[in-house]
Amino acid sequence: MSDLQLDLAILGGGVAGLWLLARLRRQGYRAVLIETDRLGAGQTRYAQGIIHGGTKYALTGKLSEPAKMVAQMPARWRACLAGEGELDLSGAQLLSAHQFLWSTTDITSRLAGFFASKLMRSRMQALDEAAYPPLFRNAAFHGQVYQLDEPVLDVASLLRALAEPHREVILKAEAAAIELQVGTPCRVSLPGLTFTARKLVFAAGQGNQALLEKLHRPGPKMQLRPLQMVALRGGLPKTFAHCLGASITPRVTLTSHQDRQGQTVWYLGGQLAEAGVDREAAAQIAVAEKELAGLFPWHDFSACEWITLPIARAEVQVGGSLPDDVYADEQDHVITVWPTKLALAPVVAERVETRLQQDGIRPGDGPDLVHALDNYPRPDYAPLPWQEEERWS
Ligand SMILES: Cc1cc2nc3c(=O)[nH]c(=O)nc-3n(C[C@H](O)[C@H](O)[C@H](O)COP(=O)(O)OP(=O)(O)OC[C@H]3O[C@@H](n4cnc5c(N)ncnc54)[C@H](O)[C@@H]3O)c2cc1C
Repeated sequence: MSDLQLDLAILGGGVAGLWLLARLRRQGYRAVLIETDRLGAGQTRYAQGIIHGGTKYALTGKLSEPAKMVAQMPARWRACLAGEGELDLSGAQLLSAHQFLWSTTDITSRLAGFFASKLMRSRMQALDEAAYPPLFRNAAFHGQVYQLDEPVLDVASLLRALAEPHREVILKAEAAAIELQVGTPCRVSLPGLTFTARKLVFAAGQGNQALLEKLHRPGPKMQLRPLQMVALRGGLPKTFAHCLGASITPRVTLTSHQDRQGQTVWYLGGQLAEAGVDREAAAQIAVAEKELAGLFPWHDFSACEWITLPIARAEVQVGGSLPDDVYADEQDHVITVWPTKLALAPVVAERVETRLQQDGIRPGDGPDLVHALDNYPRPDYAPLPWQEEERWS
């Protein structure tokens, strides 16, 4: 039985926990991450991979502090993708350098608010027809396409780029076998291994609620916002675009990925996924088919295969709507985090690091952690949901 002294034990290997682990280890902190399933197994593998730039907030015409924070994300991630940022994510795959935006209604008046904001103006530009994505280069398309400063990433390669350099401190354990004791220091017991840690970080997404309950202490409350996403494949051109309807939430958010055979898969979110939560899968697919036929009447979808992918977003409770900030707060040596968006994982890590510094916790020296964790079980990577071939049959 080993007894290790750590600065931090992170529970949860989604984007929030993995980004935090990578950032803190880069600063020299002694941290371990424990995952109960596979890395990315929660919401992260369902993410569309869009690094939001705050367009949605800007469309309200108000430039709040959270909007300014989100606006910095594309540049921050691009630096990481180029290997020049706070983390080296040069191994992560960029699926598209931009997300596009088009509308079925006249959006000129709503975009006036957008263009009134100096910060946002540079982040969205109207395209000439020659520069439209292939799907929109059709005489039947009447509208304007805008290019947004929102890169789209392949989440599977992102998970690997974050986790691979730190595999030696990423451990797998059954949820029921993890024992936690909060104190100065905290104690974490796994089968065959005991740590002390100066702080615990709950980065378990939906699993945070059970972790907080296990401690029998007051903590933040979680909300779940279910979605029923739709995926389709079969002769589709790669497209990355939001369709704006009457509300700020896009009517459809469309990203393109690959199935196991390398075939393009369209992954659809937005209002379609929010409004379709209570529909049977077949009914949700019927609505999606009608929506796409209406939006792209010139494209033939008749040979496509369709599936639905139900999943809930887990966030701090703010009355059922989307929180506009990340949550990273401490109660009694336990920092609970919900990033709200994959794109905001860097902000979560920054807030946790600031918290450690405020409490005088600095990177320390200690016995060889890597050696002590040799031979401990490691979690696999979760597959992307549309790459699970059995879902298509
Ligand atoms: C359909 C969908 C599309 C999205 N698209 C985007 C997008 O395009 N851009 C964007 O910015 N955001 C997007 N998001 C939001 C984004 O996916 C989430 O904010 C983010 O992935 C949350 O990451 P997380 O690490 O907090 O949680 P999760 O990804 O849920 O990870 C939690 C991890 O903790 C593990 N776990 C659970 N219980 C325990 C325990 N007791 N101990 C240890 N580990 C545990 C789980 O197995 C899991 O691996 C999307 C979300 C959804 C649902």
